[in-house]
Amino acid sequence: MDWTKGWIPKSASAGADDLAQAVAAFNAAHGLLELFAGHCELRRTGATNGGEFHGPCPKCGGVDRFMAWPAKGRAWCRRCGTQGDTLHWAMILEGRDPGARGETARFLRERGHLPTKRTTMPHVRKIGPA
Ligand SMILES: [Zn+2]
Repeated sequence: MDWTKGWIPKSASAGADDLAQAVAAFNAAHGLLELFAGHCELRRTGATNGGEFHGPCPKCGGVDRFMAWPAKGRAWCRRCGTQGDTLHWAMILEGRDPGARGETARFLRERGHLPTKRTTMPHVRKIGPA
């Protein structure tokens, strides 16, 4: 009997709730402005939404096409259209693709925000004498 048939490892992937929690935890732990410090210089240009900052886009450059709202934890580029929360931009700054399947979970797992994946496939066991 093949005991692996139909067996889905419980820890194969983090649940959606775990991921949402990890995303929230990451965003709470990382300030948007601290994230961009060293990548681009942002100037405070207004008080909209708890403070608005403008500067060059970390992805496509420019002068002031990029806008960040640290209080909301979001940033947006008017030119390349890239927008997202702190986690999204953290991944972009490291050359990761937030849109790639499983990439966000991988990124969070590497930083200890998600439990380490224990098993993705059933272990291959040798049966009988080697
Ligand atoms: Zn841009």
